[in-house]
Amino acid sequence: MCNEGTHFRAISYSARMTAIRLEGLTKHYGQTAAVAGVTLSIPSGSLFFLLGPSGCGKTTLLRMIAGFIEPTAGRIFFDQTDVTATPPNARNTGMVFQNYALWPHMSVVENVAFGLDVRSIARPEKERRVREALALVRMEAYAARKPGELSGGQQQRVALARAVVIEPQVLLLDEPLSNLDAKLRIEMRHEIRRIVDTLKVTTVYVTHDQKEALSLADGMAVLNAGSIAQLGAPRELYRRPSSRFVADFLGESNFVEAKRTGAFHWNAQGVALHSSIPCDAESVTLSLRPEALRLRASEGSNTMRGRVVSSAYLGEVAQHVVHVDGVGALKVFELNPRESLDVGSVVTLGVEAEDVVPILEVAGAAR
Ligand code: ATP
Repeated sequence: MCNEGTHFRAISYSARMTAIRLEGLTKHYGQTAAVAGVTLSIPSGSLFFLLGPSGCGKTTLLRMIAGFIEPTAGRIFFDQTDVTATPPNARNTGMVFQNYALWPHMSVVENVAFGLDVRSIARPEKERRVREALALVRMEAYAARKPGELSGGQQQRVALARAVVIEPQVLLLDEPLSNLDAKLRIEMRHEIRRIVDTLKVTTVYVTHDQKEALSLADGMAVLNAGSIAQLGAPRELYRRPSSRFVADFLGESNFVEAKRTGAFHWNAQGVALHSSIPCDAESVTLSLRPEALRLRASEGSNTMRGRVVSSAYLGEVAQHVVHVDGVGALKVFELNPRESLDVGSVVTLGVEAEDVVPILEVAGAAR
């Protein structure tokens, strides 16, 4: 595979790497706590995701970082500087909105230059920076067009150029890909990662799309009802969710109630399962990802026999439902399915000990 980095045009962007720290950040609207005491640190130069379902408070959090919304309580730091009371125009953040918010009557160049005009940047420098920003997003050829003459993906690139041309300390992206079709979303994901890596600018990215977050994030916070449900790297959150909510939000999972029978051993509704993850609780929910369940396993430890209830062939994957006595219906994903599975047939499912994840069902508790 070629290294995309070698194709980048050198740009003279001079971002100052900025770490962000939120301390007990809270926003109340009347009785509603849109954001309830969020504390987190975002390392400088990283691409950090705020992820969660509609209404969980992610946009409110992002807008407080930008300065558009005043917190009810808590503090925001850019490096060591407390910016909680700093107005948005003095925070040096670049923002990309969900609907791009480009000026329809201005050309691409004028849209990108707007932030520099406001800052009274002299013409030669302005022209250089606009040129470099358009090169960064690969839009030089469209400089004279109006937004109405561009595709959604191209408008998105212009919005990104406009946000980065001011050389922000912090780049804020609010669902930046939600108006694009599925294929373009994937293409633009890579573009955003490339741009962040090139500029090394601390970026906070809001989305409800878990694939976007899992594929791009250096770190992420899953939010639930205004609070952080779990914080960590994508693989950590996906493989070791600390709650049903996080396991469910980041993908599909089977949940089975289980009682402890010994260190690392569980009785899951009559099925003995071994987990390699330490957990001292007496009662837990075990999370078993559908892709971690292996079909046609040989009988042995960490296996269970069940009957196929349904089977859907989707090309690269088949999705089966297998009923196991006591446990109930389990979703099983089979990659590269070669043979069909007859409904009613009996199969043996197997699972590795590291894929048996004990979850305490106490809200917010760590395993
Ligand atoms: P979405 O993905 O749908 O944009 P979100 O996670 O970004 O959702 P927010 O827009 O931050 O959620 O809203 C969080 C909560 O605060 C919601 O319950 C919302 O109804 C409420 N809320 C947001 N803005 C206001 C406002 N101006 N006045 C009253 N309530 C608000």
